[in-house]
Amino acid sequence: MTRPPLNRRLAEFGTTIFAEMSALAARTGAINLGQGFPDTDGPEEIREAAVRALRDGRGNQYPPGPGVPELRSAVADHQRDRYGLAYDPDTEVLVTAGATEAIAAALLALVEPGDEVVALEPYYDSYAACVAMAGGTRVPVTLRPHEGAYVLDLDELRAAVTDRTRLILLNTPHNPTGTVLTRAELTAVAELAIERDLLVVTDEVYEHLVFDGAEHVPIASLPGMRERTVTIGSAGKTFSFTGWKVGWITASPELTSAVRSAKQFLTYVSSGPFQYAIAEALRLPATYFDTLRADLQAKRDLLSEGLAQAGFEVYRPAGTYFVTTDIRPLGDEDGFAFCRSLPERAGVVAIPNAVFYDHREAGAPFVRFAFCKKTEVLEEAVSRLKRLA
Ligand SMILES: *Cc1c(COP(=O)(O)O)cnc(C)c1O
Repeated sequence: MTRPPLNRRLAEFGTTIFAEMSALAARTGAINLGQGFPDTDGPEEIREAAVRALRDGRGNQYPPGPGVPELRSAVADHQRDRYGLAYDPDTEVLVTAGATEAIAAALLALVEPGDEVVALEPYYDSYAACVAMAGGTRVPVTLRPHEGAYVLDLDELRAAVTDRTRLILLNTPHNPTGTVLTRAELTAVAELAIERDLLVVTDEVYEHLVFDGAEHVPIASLPGMRERTVTIGSAGKTFSFTGWKVGWITASPELTSAVRSAKQFLTYVSSGPFQYAIAEALRLPATYFDTLRADLQAKRDLLSEGLAQAGFEVYRPAGTYFVTTDIRPLGDEDGFAFCRSLPERAGVVAIPNAVFYDHREAGAPFVRFAFCKKTEVLEEAVSRLKRLA
């Protein structure tokens, strides 16, 4: 072959660290706190709802392009009841193959080659790849550790916006740092978007996983933002069915129809029977969401305390199911080397945060652990990690 097969747009995204680290976990028998998927399935009644849909022949053939009406109205009701955001289920809701497709379709639909996309770094790995596929240029604004949490520097955000900026790509609650942007921070982001006439694409897949009474604020609910915001949601994290790949966007008719234009040539449709089941899941009583949150908060505390005792500096997350640590108190500096040796040293797998950075050196000493695992698995991990101390 005269030239490498992978094109220049994607050359830097050849393989993901998750594959390498999961293979390492399998090979060494280490506890895998790398990739963020729960080790228990979601509610039995929702699984049964999927079985019923399959048996009753609902969704076994191509569902409607925008998603089944039951799910679109459940999404619209969810946004209205939780956040006071009214969306028309027929023109302002689009079901996607997980949040992953929603991110890809939104960026492919809204970004012109040469447009700049401002995103909060460290970022979820698909953002950079999707900006690249759209021919855009990513402009990272780095969240920095400050008094035990990662914070957004609003001046840095303002300085990152240029005449070529098309949109701001937000993520709150934020993976991997666990930061939940406050109403005041989001208000400042909204003012900037309005002043510079920018679109906002906001990834809110962890909207239900906020701790210590923190509030999740959708930026679309702030004045002047509804018409310029694409909000992305997903059933994967909220209902512990990451394999079902049911996600959605809510946005104005113009934005929804633009995203749909890209989406129809990616998957067209997906997850037929699961869409009916998730329509029921979104209507579960408040106790479901409260129990999920309380359970994960206890797991956050268990793992955070264990990591602190093992010698890590811990950034206790306000949301998501990840905790970011600093390995420097352990005498280490390079997260990659640390994560490659951790199975041998302590029988645990984690992810080096540097993979989520363009400024790799800014992320070098940070390592992410997932706590969406059974309590006994976390207890075992914590006891193994004590070997490091
Ligand atoms: C898991 C995750 C996604 C992907 O969600 P799916 O619905 O599984 O496609 C998107 N964004 C963030 C920040 C995530 O952590």
